[in-house]
Amino acid sequence: MKLLLPNKVCNRVTDINLAELRKLGISGLMLDLDNTLVRYDSEELDQEFKAWVAQAKAEGFKICLVSNGRPKRVLRFAQLMDIPAVIRAYKPKRSPFLQALRLLSKDAPQVAMIGDQLFTDVLGANRLGIYTILITPLGKKELSTTRLVRKLEQRMLRRFVKKGWLADEVLDQRSGGER
Ligand SMILES: [Mg+2]
Repeated sequence: MKLLLPNKVCNRVTDINLAELRKLGISGLMLDLDNTLVRYDSEELDQEFKAWVAQAKAEGFKICLVSNGRPKRVLRFAQLMDIPAVIRAYKPKRSPFLQALRLLSKDAPQVAMIGDQLFTDVLGANRLGIYTILITPLGKKELSTTRLVRKLEQRMLRRFVKKGWLADEVLDQRSGGER
């Protein structure tokens, strides 16, 4: 069960404390795309997120996208942010994360995976000993399969909160106030 437990929970990508990550010895970031950086149904990258990525890069972090999304879409956003991407990632498989480590020229303990899903982003990265940061999904619109998974995800998160492994804000943030 602990393979599904993120090391850290943040509401938005922009809430991530880069200085704190650096203190942990982290110098590489793997970013999920859909509902982490852009809404699932949007073609627009929020200026605030674009600026955050640029800032992280300027501070010396190496960054790449790791996405199960449509390759053309993923590559377009990667280009917008000027970062490389692992496409057709099929997270939680190990291979995309290993590929991303090679892209970043980092070892697993030097990297954080940032994403909105427990069963793809968190599980896949945890299996390799990569630090994991769970983000609140940006939008409610998702694939029907994802919506089903969200129910399981919410159940898991509630269990983590009950055990005292996560702060209960995580539930409020993800349900938009209603549990
Ligand atoms: Mg996502």
